[in-house]
Amino acid sequence: MNNTNTNHEELKEKNPELYKVAFEKGTEAPFVGKHVNEKGNGMYHCAVCGTELFSSNTKFDSGSGWPSFTDPADVEAVTLVPDDTHGMRRTEVLCKKCGAHLGHVFPDGPVKASGGVCDRYCINSISLDFKKEE
Ligand code: FE
Repeated sequence: MNNTNTNHEELKEKNPELYKVAFEKGTEAPFVGKHVNEKGNGMYHCAVCGTELFSSNTKFDSGSGWPSFTDPADVEAVTLVPDDTHGMRRTEVLCKKCGAHLGHVFPDGPVKASGGVCDRYCINSISLDFKKEE
């Protein structure tokens, strides 16, 4: 996409909070995001480009203060990148379509009934639009 930068500049003016997280890799404060306590059924879409990213079926309460999911809605919807900033070894999660920063994924989610441990996709609320199903 040739107009990606133009779109980001537009977003910076329209929604500076989202721009800061999505394109400057910001992190919103814990426990205050709009989706932290959301328990409804539906799909979480990229707040920048609208791609379906996480289903409520995989959402769980991690106690971290950020919306947490065991899996993306489609493994092809996200890009995972090693992130060694802030003195930590983490894996960054990006929207594959638009490159927006979403959060990080950690290998410490809920224990599976079959044994082993699920992943914990720790995602900023502001990066997600929730479309609730009735
Ligand atoms: Fe996106």
